Amino acid sequence: MLHVKELKVAIDNQVILDGLNLHIKEGEVHAIMGPNGVGKSTLAKVISAHPSYEVLGGSIHYKGKDILEMDVSERANEGIFLAFQTPIEVPGVNNIYFLKQAYNAKRVKNGLEEASAAEFLKLVKEKIAQLGIKTDVFKRDLNAGFSGGEKKQNEMLQMSVLEPDLFLLDEIDSGLDVDALKSVANGVNLMLNENRSVLLITHYQRMLEYIKPDFVHILHNGRIVQSGDISLAREIEKNGYAMLEKARSAS
Ligand code: ADP
Ligand code: MG
Repeated sequence: MLHVKELKVAIDNQVILDGLNLHIKEGEVHAIMGPNGVGKSTLAKVISAHPSYEVLGGSIHYKGKDILEMDVSERANEGIFLAFQTPIEVPGVNNIYFLKQAYNAKRVKNGLEEASAAEFLKLVKEKIAQLGIKTDVFKRDLNAGFSGGEKKQNEMLQMSVLEPDLFLLDEIDSGLDVDALKSVANGVNLMLNENRSVLLITHYQRMLEYIKPDFVHILHNGRIVQSGDISLAREIEKNGYAMLEKARSAS
């Protein structure tokens, strides 16, 4: 599904990722952990084609294709979805209208007819019911005045409508209380199957108790320095990242 090789990325001439390797197979859930500012969001944004980042070296292949050649909408239409750490507010752009544009762009790319407004609304209603969302904020402008939890639910709604194959979830737990966290995790779990893969970025092991990772990786100094299973996340929860530092300098 995703092959990241020796990836080197800079922003403002500052190298953030430096020789990062990551391989994700279909159906796998990979968690990336690491302290603030190590480049976790950078990785997610580079995979989804955020324009600010400069790729200095290495490669990213998705379903066998070199995606560094594709722009953000091409990558989205190929099935890559990034749920932002802090979803942006876009006043003046209606939320449902925005989602319909994205949905229809993907349909057209796949050789299907565009959905009509009525068909699309019916789909959105079904998805909202499936996700168990009890609010109608989604009729407003894109994320405009949404609470933290509503923004995350809106990301879930976008995901369930767009049905991506690769989910990049960047700290979707940030700013959520435990009930909202459970509901968002439940939304993600409902969408997972053997053909879909997840890159789950999180600070806290807590999230991983709800969305179970197959692999846990630690990002440090621009690359993945340690990989393991959930026990690695639990160890970090207990001892902090400082412990990893000590273990490495001792070896
Ligand atoms: P993380 O998600 O792991 O907390 P980020 O990927 O957001 O880390 O950031 C990695 C580094 O890149 C940080 O030092 C951050 O300050 C820097 N950075 C991120 N975005 C920008 C930007 N737009 N301009 C300059 N520096 C940035
Ligand atoms: Mg981040």
